[in-house]
Amino acid sequence: MQQQEGETQERIHWADVCAAQVDQDKSHYIATGITPSGPIHIGNMREVLTGDLVHKAMVERGLSSEQVYIADDFDPLRKVYPFLPDSYAKYIGMPPLCDIPCPCGKHANYAEHFLEPFLQALDEMDVHPTVLRSSELYRSGRYADEIATVLNRSDDIKEILERVSRRTLPDSWVPYYPICSKCGTIANAEILSHDPETTSVTYRCPCGHEGVSDYSKGGEGKLVWRVDWPMRWHNLGVTVEPFGKDHAAAGGSFDTGKEIVDKIFGGVAPFPVKYEWISLKGKGAMASSTGVAISINEMLSIVPPDVLRYMIVRARPERAINFDPGMGLLTLIDEYARLAESHDSREYELSAISSVATDIPPFRHMVTVVQIAQDKDTIFDILARSGYDVENKEAVLARAERARIWIEKYAPEMVKFTVQTDLPSEVFAFTEDDRYGLGLLLSEYIAMDEWKAETIHNAYILWERRPE
Ligand SMILES: [Zn+2]
Ligand SMILES: [Zn+2]
Repeated sequence: MQQQEGETQERIHWADVCAAQVDQDKSHYIATGITPSGPIHIGNMREVLTGDLVHKAMVERGLSSEQVYIADDFDPLRKVYPFLPDSYAKYIGMPPLCDIPCPCGKHANYAEHFLEPFLQALDEMDVHPTVLRSSELYRSGRYADEIATVLNRSDDIKEILERVSRRTLPDSWVPYYPICSKCGTIANAEILSHDPETTSVTYRCPCGHEGVSDYSKGGEGKLVWRVDWPMRWHNLGVTVEPFGKDHAAAGGSFDTGKEIVDKIFGGVAPFPVKYEWISLKGKGAMASSTGVAISINEMLSIVPPDVLRYMIVRARPERAINFDPGMGLLTLIDEYARLAESHDSREYELSAISSVATDIPPFRHMVTVVQIAQDKDTIFDILARSGYDVENKEAVLARAERARIWIEKYAPEMVKFTVQTDLPSEVFAFTEDDRYGLGLLLSEYIAMDEWKAETIHNAYILWERRPE
C-alpha cells in the first residue's frame, strides 16, 4: 500500500502537487515580479512560468485563481550594466527606473523599454497575468496605511530582521527610504521624525538637504525590500508566490517576510514555490547585470513558445536547469516533438499552446533543409522530395527562419555546411560504382534523417549487392 502511494505520487506533475497543497477553501492570488532593469532573460521567465503552471493547475482543480505580474519599476538603477552607455552613470541610485529615460528613445521610460518586449513574449507563451507596476501602486497612495504601520513599528521590525537574519542594523535604521527632493537619491537619507497626522517623515540626506517626504501620495519614498515584500502580500492579498532560491535561504527575505506579515500586518505569508536558477551552459547563472543571459525574445526567435514552456514544465522548480542553446536545444525540441505526437501526457497539456502549429517537419530536419535551399520555393521542393507533405506553408517558413537564426547564432560548427555551386574537379574522375555508392548514401540518409553508423552501414550493404 505504502509503495502504491509512492508510485502514484511520482506520476503527478509538480504543478498539480502545488495545486493540491494550497488552501483549498480560499480564492487564490498568485504574484510574480521582476525588476525591469535590463533585458528580461529566460532565467527570469522561470518565475512567471512557474506561477502560470500552478495557476493553470489550480484552475483545472476547480479553485478560483488570478495571477498578477508586478513590474518593480520603482527601484533605483544599481549600476551601469554592460548593455548601457556610460552616460547612464548619472542615474545610479536615482529612483526610480520609471523616471529614467529609455535607452532607445522610443519608450515612455527605462523600465518600459525592457517591459514591452517581455510582456509581448509572455503573451506569445500563453501567459496572461494582470500587469501591475510598483510605481503606480506607490504613487496611488494605496500603501499609505501599511507604510504608517511600518514607521510606527520600526523597532519591532528591526528586532525581527536582526534576530531572523542574524545581522546588525544601524541605530538610526528605519525601513522607509525617502527620495531626496534635492539630489533625487534614495536609500541614503536619515529619518528624523514621523508624523502620522500628515502622513510624512522629515529626513536629512547626505547631500545636506533636509526635507519632508509624504508617503501617502506621489511616491515620495519606498519601503526597504525586506519589508516591501510582506507589505505587498498583505496589501494585495497574495496567496501563492514563486521566488528564487536566494530569497528562500535560511534567514533570507522569505523567512523575515513570514514573521513581518504575521506580527506587523496580521497577515499570512503566501504558499511558497521556490525555484532554482537557469544557468547558461559553461557560463554560469543567468543575470542580465553580468551579460550572461539570453533574453526571452531572442529565444523566441529560435524556439516556438510551447518548447520554452516545456523547458520549465519538465523540470521540478527545485531542480537547476543548465541551458545549452547549441545541440542541447535541438535535443529539447526533439523531446517535445515526441511528446506532442502522443498528445496525452500531462507535460504536453501544460506546455501546448493551441495557436502553435505542430504538423510541420522536425526542427532538426529544417536545419539541414535551410542550409541546402537557396530560396523559399526550394525549401518546399526539398521537403516534398524528402517525403513531407506540407500544408501549413506559413508555419514551415517560420520554422525555417528559426532554424536559420539558430545556425547563425548557436549551432556548433559540426552541423554547419554549405552546398557547393561548382563541382570539385575530383567529381569528374568518379567511376560508375562511385556514383552509385554516393546515391545510396544519400537515399539512406534521407530515409533515416540523420548520419548514424547504421546509415553508412546500410548503404554499404546495398552497394556490395549492387547490380553488375
Ligand atoms: Zn526604448
Ligand atoms: Zn539629497
